[in-house]
Amino acid sequence: MEEKQGVVKDVRLRVSADLHLSRELRGDEVEKVAEYAVSSFPSIFSRGALKDEEPRINELTVSGEKLSITVESGRRVRAHEAVKRARKALSEELGPKMGLGVRGISVKSFEVTFIGDCLREVKLPFAKKVEKIKEGMKYWLDVNESDLYSQVPDRIISLFLEKQEEHAAAREVHKIVWRSSEKPVKYAADPGPLLDEEGWVKRFYPGIWYYLQPYANLLRILENMIVEKVAKPLGFQEVVLPKLIPLEVAKKKGHLAGIPSEMLYVCEPGSREVSYFEDYTDLVKVLNEPRPEVLKQFLKEPVFTLPYAQCEPFYELFAGETLNLDNPPVKLYDRSGFSFRHEAGGLRSLERLTAFTRIEIVYLGRPEDVAETRDRLIENYLSILDKTLDMEVRSAEVTPVWMAHAGVVKDVSRNVSATFDIEAYLPFRGDRESEWLEIANASVHYDKYVDWFNIKERKGREVWTGCSGNGLERWVYAFLARHGFNVENWPVEVKRLWASYKPPIMDT
Ligand code: ATP
Ligand code: ZN
Ligand code: MG
Repeated sequence: MEEKQGVVKDVRLRVSADLHLSRELRGDEVEKVAEYAVSSFPSIFSRGALKDEEPRINELTVSGEKLSITVESGRRVRAHEAVKRARKALSEELGPKMGLGVRGISVKSFEVTFIGDCLREVKLPFAKKVEKIKEGMKYWLDVNESDLYSQVPDRIISLFLEKQEEHAAAREVHKIVWRSSEKPVKYAADPGPLLDEEGWVKRFYPGIWYYLQPYANLLRILENMIVEKVAKPLGFQEVVLPKLIPLEVAKKKGHLAGIPSEMLYVCEPGSREVSYFEDYTDLVKVLNEPRPEVLKQFLKEPVFTLPYAQCEPFYELFAGETLNLDNPPVKLYDRSGFSFRHEAGGLRSLERLTAFTRIEIVYLGRPEDVAETRDRLIENYLSILDKTLDMEVRSAEVTPVWMAHAGVVKDVSRNVSATFDIEAYLPFRGDRESEWLEIANASVHYDKYVDWFNIKERKGREVWTGCSGNGLERWVYAFLARHGFNVENWPVEVKRLWASYKPPIMDT
């Protein structure tokens, strides 16, 4: 049964705070401060607020060393924003006149009420209490002065809204845009087990394989085809992108918030001294086991993630820089994979892996150039798959993963599609209704990463980015599922590049 989705109609805030003054008030100063606050705060608070939604002062008292205030507000100019404005105004007005400042703010209570129907109670950071009320859901937050100044309450409110929409977004959009002709089935087996039996690959660890000569040979043939026939004709040039991604970069790309459970992390040793590890190395010698649970105590906290999307460092290349859109678009590709994914429980043969190779194609420039580039990439992929490789393929418009990866669930209303997937039909799995495997995709990200990575343009013009990924193992898998292992039956272009090989040395 489908759960009814909550709709937030309004957000109300109520904040009580003490503004601590820099010195004790004397004589009639208490009155003067109170007079100033009462007469000027309302107009200061209402700047930028919608009519009838201005933050309202609920309580205001001035005593010797502090001004205590309780403010209620709607969602536009929020109560805590009003408290910050009060502090600034007090310092600016009373500083010159009385030599008075505000030393700090203590937040005494912070209440957020989400008004709406069918709201779900969700976990929120810094929430010390939550109550379902008639109008919706009410949270009491435990936040302090520095949280107010680093937008923490606003992000908590956004998080609540996001969590209400979450399961609506889980429903993926999938709209077929183009499909090749139906091709007669000439091979009907699953290539997975055969790859292993024929000595093309050997398992190293779950989801991680040795690619032996024939497999590596076929993988490189397909890889070169993508470089030569998809990327280079559009002017893409090779770079080598870093493969250890600092947490800060993973955060900017949204991965830490969106897919923390799907990534692999790297730790540095606790010290550079071998002697630091003495207890551990002794144990390894005596027990003759790796003992990861002990090793863990000798490591620092994680510093890096391994590349998940492979394009993470591309956006960071421009972080904090100013671009000039009069220059041609940036078009690069990186073929120095692996990418790594912690595919919980879902590992499958040479199709869903922990470590997989890909060419990550990345682009940045004017919106129309980025959209055009993405469309041309899709055309080129489909052309080699359909014509050169004689595979049965289709393309589909889908929910953009790059948004899901960042935990972003709201749709952006744009007239350019975000993501197209390219899928190949796997005959051995069954009918054409459902048995398709995603082997590549290409996206535009609009200005999302430009925003998240703080990339500027000299005249403030809108800059877009895009990227296109392809699992080379998936290309091999889909190719073999279509054409089988008999090289004689392969398309000419592949046959021409194929090198015979000696089987590995193992006696099987
Ligand atoms: P899927 O839905 O099949 O898991 P995805 O949407 O997670 O794919 P992307 O994040 O868009 O895939 O990654 C780009 C490409 O990388 C995919 O088109 C696919 O070819 C490949 N890929 C993704 N995950 C894996 C994996 N675990 N093993 C091998 N290839 C993968
Ligand atoms: Zn990417
Ligand atoms: Mg996936």
